[in-house]
Parts: sequence; structure tokens; C-alpha cells
Amino acid sequence: MQLSNPHVSMPPFRSPQQAFQRAAAIFLDWDGCVMIGSRLVPGARTLLQRHGDRIVILSNNSTHLPEDFSRILQQAGVHIPAERIVLAGAEAVRWTSQDKHARVMLLGSARIKGCARQMGLTLVREAPDQILLMRDTRFTYAKLCRAANALHGGARLIVANGDVTHPGTDGEIVPETGAVLAALLACAPNTPVMTVGKPGPLLFSRACDIAGVSPDQAVMIGDNPLTDGKGATDYGIHPILIGPGTELTLEDMLAW
Ligand SMILES: [Mg+2]
Repeated sequence: MQLSNPHVSMPPFRSPQQAFQRAAAIFLDWDGCVMIGSRLVPGARTLLQRHGDRIVILSNNSTHLPEDFSRILQQAGVHIPAERIVLAGAEAVRWTSQDKHARVMLLGSARIKGCARQMGLTLVREAPDQILLMRDTRFTYAKLCRAANALHGGARLIVANGDVTHPGTDGEIVPETGAVLAALLACAPNTPVMTVGKPGPLLFSRACDIAGVSPDQAVMIGDNPLTDGKGATDYGIHPILIGPGTELTLEDMLAW
């Protein structure tokens, strides 16, 4: 697994259309690119059907598992196997499970906790060695107290993703893992943070492994310049930004 890419040289300048057409692998963000809340983004179904064999979904989602997303797409008439879906939450569990003896406080969904137990993690409420932070929709003051004190006592902090919000179905904002992280860091400001999701290299590395490509053979389609854009560029992958603030939509790509 390649985590840093010391020989990154920026890809030669290409238009988004040239990069898309030449790419052996297309990495595609989920929120804002495939789905907005519970709605498919216009053009997503056709793009996925047409280019599915080149696509790896690459998302900072930390509440669901790859098989959940695969099922959602199946219901929309698109087949993308779970093995081609890389999610920050599940990858953070994989990363943490390298230490088989760790006592882990997991702040996250029941779905992710089930996955963590299956992968052999020991989940605890008190005195953890590691805190694994996801988008915990049941985050409470009591959890903040326990987690902040564990960090104060030296527990290591692993975060699925740093996003503060993502777009909801009707234009509302959905608070993300980064918002909960801000609460923890307000209490324990000197804590080092290991972030698994974009813009870090881990998810891009996994996606390259899955697709069997080197970074310069892939493009990353996303709607967030700070995670999709910066992360891809840092890893040597050509970014293609779509959505608000750009001139591109997924539907434009259907003509490419
Ligand atoms: Mg997005």
C-alpha cells in the first residue's frame, strides 16, 4: 500500500475532458456527486451505468458500510460491487484494527460498531487506548466528557474524516465528523489527530490498489476542492471538480 507518493510530479496539463477520457480509473465522490441526501444527482445513474467498470466510489462517509451504498445503487438500477466502494468510516476501522490489543472508544453508528466488532476490535466506554471518531448522530454531552477525559489521559485520536458539514437533500447542511471533532479539540486542544479520509492519502491509496492503477492513471471527480481537489492533487491524481462554484456537472460528462 502506497501512503505517500514522494515521486509525485504534477500530471501534464490536460482539460477535464481529456483527463476523463484517458483515465483507466475514475474515482467518484458520493455526497454531492452520486447522491444529495436521498436523491440521485442528475446524470449519476447514466454515468455509473456507462463507466461502472472504471469507477471506484471514494467517500468520506463514516456512517455506512460499502455494502449499504452498493444496495442503494442496486435499487437505482446500477451495479457497483461493495469491493469498489471505499468509505472513510470502514477504512478507519480497518486502520485501527491493525492493533489487535487496542481498547477502542468508537463514537459512531451502530452499523460501524458492528463492523468494528466483526474485525476484532475491543470496544469500550471507559479508559480507551484509542478513540475512533465518526459522524456520531447520537453524540451527547456525556460522550464528550468521556472522550475529552480519555484524550486528556493520553488516548490516541483517529478520525474518519475532517469535513464539518455535507449537503442535505433540500439544501440544508448536515453536520459532519469534523463538527464533533471541533468539540473534542475545544476540550483537548493539543491532541494529535490522525485523519483517515480525504484529503489524506489513505483512501486514494486504497482506491488505486483496488483499481490496479497508478495515481497518474486516475481522475477524481468530486465537489469539494478542500478534500477531493487537494487530496487528489497531493496524491498525483487529476482532480475534476463539479457542482456549485464550478462550470461542470456530471451531465456534462455524459457527452464526453
Ligand atoms: Mg462531496
